[in-house]
Amino acid sequence: MKEVKLTFHNNGLRSYIDVDLCSECPRQDDKGCCGYYSPVFYPSDFAYLIRCQPELLEEILSLSQITVLDASVTVNHTIEAPGYHCYFHNIDGGCRLPQLMRESICRHFVCPGITWERDEKFKHWKNFFAQLSDYEIELNNKISAQLKSEGLTLRDLENRTLFFKRLVEIFDKETSVVPDFIRAADQEQSLSLTCEIKYGEDWIL
Ligand code: SF4
Repeated sequence: MKEVKLTFHNNGLRSYIDVDLCSECPRQDDKGCCGYYSPVFYPSDFAYLIRCQPELLEEILSLSQITVLDASVTVNHTIEAPGYHCYFHNIDGGCRLPQLMRESICRHFVCPGITWERDEKFKHWKNFFAQLSDYEIELNNKISAQLKSEGLTLRDLENRTLFFKRLVEIFDKETSVVPDFIRAADQEQSLSLTCEIKYGEDWIL
C-alpha cells in the first residue's frame, strides 16, 4: 500500500493532473502509460500551440509518422518492446513536453490502479474533468465544423496558413465566455489517497 498524491490544476482548457507516483512508475519499464499511446492534437491544442509555442506545431507537422485528418493530427507511436515509443518520450525524464503543451489525454490521464474516481473526496475534480472533456469535445467539433463549412482542411498544405488563422479566430469567438464550472473550481488542489501498488505488467494502464 502506498500514499499517492494527485495535484489538480485548473487552467481552463489547459487543465492537468499531476501524479507524484509517475516519477517511480510501478511499470518499471521507463515509459509507463506513455509507451502505449499516440497523442492526438485537436483545434483547441492548435490554438494554444500557435500562441505559445508555434515552433512545436511546426515540428509536429513536419514529422513523418503523423496521421493528418481534416482538423486533427495524431503523432503515431513506433514499435519498441515492451509496447511502443511515443515520439515525445525520453527514457530520462519522461515526456519532454511541458504539461501545458500536451494534449488532453496526456494532461488528464491517471492510471486505473489509482482509484481516485471511486473516492468521495475527489468527486468535485472527477466532475470538473468530465465537464471539461465534454466542453472540449463540443468546442473542437464546433471549430472543425466551421472550418469544414469554409472549405478548410489541414490536409490542404497550400491553405494551412489560412486554416490556422481562421481556427484561432473561431476559437477566440467560441471561448470568449468562460464556462461556469471552470470559474467556480479552485485553481489548484492536492489530495492524497492510499492505493495497492502492483509492479510490472500487473500494474494496469
Ligand atoms: S506526449 Fe508526452 S505524456 Fe503524451 S504519451 Fe507522449 S510522452 Fe506521454
